[in-house]
Amino acid sequence: MLWMTVILVSLLGLMIGSAVNAIVWRLYVGRSWVKGRSMCPECKHQLAAKDLVPVVSWLALGGKCRYCKAPIQDSPIVELVTAGLFGLSAWWLAPVTVVTGVLFGLWLVILTMLIVLAVYDARWMLLPDKVMVPAIVLALVYVVAQAVLTHHPLMMRGPLLAALGLGTAFYVLVAATKGRGMGGGDIKLGFLMGLILGIKGLLVALFIAFDVAALVAVILIISHRKKRKDQMAFGPYLVGSTVVAFLFGQQIVAWYLRLNGL
Ligand SMILES: [Zn+2]
Repeated sequence: MLWMTVILVSLLGLMIGSAVNAIVWRLYVGRSWVKGRSMCPECKHQLAAKDLVPVVSWLALGGKCRYCKAPIQDSPIVELVTAGLFGLSAWWLAPVTVVTGVLFGLWLVILTMLIVLAVYDARWMLLPDKVMVPAIVLALVYVVAQAVLTHHPLMMRGPLLAALGLGTAFYVLVAATKGRGMGGGDIKLGFLMGLILGIKGLLVALFIAFDVAALVAVILIISHRKKRKDQMAFGPYLVGSTVVAFLFGQQIVAWYLRLNGL
């Protein structure tokens, strides 16, 4: 039964991942989310259904447009990662009651928005408000829904404190460095992370994000793929660590405490 759910949710993730690619592109060129058929950004040829099957089309076409042979911008990796995270969420959160089902549905929408933000930031070093603001609203809905549905109104306190705390910390950081390194989008992302994670989860996420980003930066500099002064989008690391901490935060804290004999 659980495996059936995991497989179905993964397939949903595959389709959503395909939509994420389209949304990221349409946000960038400023077209409406829903209007208009998909087309190749290079030759403007309209794409048929057979060109739009997640992953399969990309493989069948060798990563090139059927009509003009330009490399396809939409990455099958985005589709596969989305499918993987959807499946992992279904398996780990195993929603069986109405309450967990509602929260699970909300989480999938928030997760989708997080993936859009990460992909957009990785490509264009920007976290668009058009996604960020709805994501923050939805995270607020999640926090309130969780407190109301589980009859624990005090559960709202942690996420709100964490959101204000990290939002303020990032604001100070951006002001102090005059926007080099981190930007205004990161402030809102900090607020969003706090809402999603609460205080403990947030600490886990920051710990992971800073360590992994530093490690990647060192590897890129040593391998001469980047210079010390080059800008690096920090958003994808923050988003990735948010997803990990949301799903496994408690386990990571317990593991870390055991490791240190606490
Ligand atoms: Zn083309």
